[in-house]
Amino acid sequence: MFSKHCLDATFGQFVTILKWVAWKRDVFVSEVDKNFTSQICPNCGFYTGKKTLDVREHSCRRCGYKTHTDVAL
Ligand SMILES: [Zn+2]
Repeated sequence: MFSKHCLDATFGQFVTILKWVAWKRDVFVSEVDKNFTSQICPNCGFYTGKKTLDVREHSCRRCGYKTHTDVAL
């Protein structure tokens, strides 16, 4: 229990430092909700379904938009 709290606090400090370094270097950083990532097409909003981690390309059946899964939030 205590170690989980320490881990959460450490990760929170890491995110704070990461945001500061990104701001200092003029790099965009955003926290992303872990649910439904890479499942909704960023071009048309169509739900494309759950992907496994080995699938690295987002491909929309409705509009044909293709991009890397890191881009398709
Ligand atoms: Zn689409």
